[in-house]
Amino acid sequence: MTLQSINPTTGELFATYEEWSTEQAQDVVCKVHQDYVAWHRTGFDRRASLMRNAAGILSDNAREYAKLMAEEMGKPFLDGIAEAEKCAKACEYFAENAETFLSRQPVWTDARKTFVAFNPLGVVLAIMPWNFPFWQVFRFAAPSLMAGNAALLKHASNVPGCALAIEKIFRDAGFPENLFRTLMIASKQVDALIEHPLVRAVTLTGSGAAGRAVASKAGAVLKKTVLELGGSDPYLILEDADPHSAAAICARGRLVNSGQSCIAAKRFIVVEEARPAFEKRFVELMSKAKMGDPFEGGTEIGPLARHDLRDTLHRQVVASVGMGARLLLGGTVPNHPGAYYPATVLTDVGKGMPAYEEELFGPVAAIIPAKSEAEAIAIANDTPFGLGGAVITRDLPRGERIAEFEIESGMVFVNENVRSDPRVPFGGIKESGYGRELSSYGIKEFVNIKTVMVY
Ligand code: NDP
Repeated sequence: MTLQSINPTTGELFATYEEWSTEQAQDVVCKVHQDYVAWHRTGFDRRASLMRNAAGILSDNAREYAKLMAEEMGKPFLDGIAEAEKCAKACEYFAENAETFLSRQPVWTDARKTFVAFNPLGVVLAIMPWNFPFWQVFRFAAPSLMAGNAALLKHASNVPGCALAIEKIFRDAGFPENLFRTLMIASKQVDALIEHPLVRAVTLTGSGAAGRAVASKAGAVLKKTVLELGGSDPYLILEDADPHSAAAICARGRLVNSGQSCIAAKRFIVVEEARPAFEKRFVELMSKAKMGDPFEGGTEIGPLARHDLRDTLHRQVVASVGMGARLLLGGTVPNHPGAYYPATVLTDVGKGMPAYEEELFGPVAAIIPAKSEAEAIAIANDTPFGLGGAVITRDLPRGERIAEFEIESGMVFVNENVRSDPRVPFGGIKESGYGRELSSYGIKEFVNIKTVMVY
C-alpha cells in the first residue's frame, strides 16, 4: 500500500510513499516516548530556543513549503507563503509565552504551601486535515512541545509530503530526533495507536465522522481528546450594516482557502431590508474572484483539494437548487481536469436544504433571508455546528451584545472575519467539537493540572 500525492490542479499522481505497518508505527511510538522522558525535564529556555529555530526555518523556506501545499492540495502559492509565516509566528508566540502560561499558581489554603503545577502528559497523537496542512499541525505542536510533550502526527493521506516536511523542520531546528514524528499510516491504523499505552492523549481536526470515530475509541480506553471539527459559521448582516463593507467581509470570509476552512463564512443571514443592496455587491465581489492555477499571480480560488470533495460540494448545490434555492452565481463544474469549483452564490436558502443544514466546504455561499434581528439569531443557532460566527452592524454595542449573549459558538467577531490568532482561544461547541487550541487555554489542554499541598 502507498500514500499518494495527487496534484488537484492536473489530477496527476506525482509522488508515492510507502505506507507503514502498524508494527512499524508502534515501534516509533516507543522511540518518541524515549525522547519525551528526557524532554519533559528540559527548561523553558532550551525549549524556546529550539522553537525559535523552527520559526526561522519556516520563514526561510516559506516558498518551498508553499510549493508543496500548492502541489498536494491546490492552495494558491501566496496563501501558502502566508500560512508558513503564520506558523512561524505561532512558534515565536509560544516560545515567548509558554513559561508564563505554565508557571505554578499559588493558592491560599490552610496548608503551609499550596500551588497548581502544569506537567506535560507525554506522547500526544495528532490527527490532522489537509486544508491548512502546516498551520493545523503547528497550532497543536508549538504549544504542546513547549509544554514538554512529545508528538505523533497522522496527517491526512493526501498531504504526505507536507507531513514529512514538518517532521524535518523540528529535526533541523535541533529538537531531539524522535520528539516529533510523522506516521505514514492510513486512518484504519489509528485505533491501534490510540490503544497504545504510551499514547496519552489525542487531538483531531477534521470532519464530524472522523471526530466521532476517534473520540469513541479514545473514550473506550479513557484517553483525553480535543476535537476541532466542522463549522457552518453564520454571518448576520443586520439592517443597519453598510452593504459594501458587509459584502467585502463576507466575500473574503467565504473564499478563504478556496472556501475550505472550518471557520469560513458559510451562511449569510441577511435581514430583509439589507438584502437587495447586499446581494448585488456580494455577487459582484464573488464573481471578481479569480479562479486559476495556484502558481499564477492573482489566483484567489485554486482547485479544491480532491475531486471527491468537489463532487460532494456540487451535489449539495444541485440538491439545494432542487429544493427551491436560487442560483445567483456559479453552480456549474468547469470543463477542466482539475478539481475546480467556481465561486457560487445561492439565495432563498431555507430549512431542509443541504446549503442550510450541512457544511459547504468550498466557495459556495448560502444567503438565508430573515425578517428581523431575532429571526436572524434563531436561524444562526439552528444548526448542529457551533464553531464561529460574525455580526455585521454599524451599532457596535448591539453587535457586541449579540456576539456575547446570543450566538451559540466558540468565537464571534463583530464587523470582521473569524480568524485564528495565537493570542486567543480557538475552538467550538456542539458538533464543532470541544476543547480549545492556542492561547493560554490551548496550551493547558495537554497538561496535567496538578495540585500540590505542603503541610
Ligand atoms: P476527514 O475528517 O476524513 O479527515 C481528517 C483527518 O482525519 C485525516 O487525517 C484523516 O485521515 C483522518 N481520519 C478520517 N477518518 C478517520 C477515522 N475513522 N479514524 C482516524 N482518523 C480518521 O476529512 P475529509 O478529508 O474526508 O473531508 C471531509 C469533510 O470534512 C470536508 O468536506 C469538511 O466538511 C470536513 N473537514 C473539516 C476540516 C476542519 O478544518 N474542521 C478539515 C478537513 C475536512 P485520512 O486522510 O487518511 O482519511
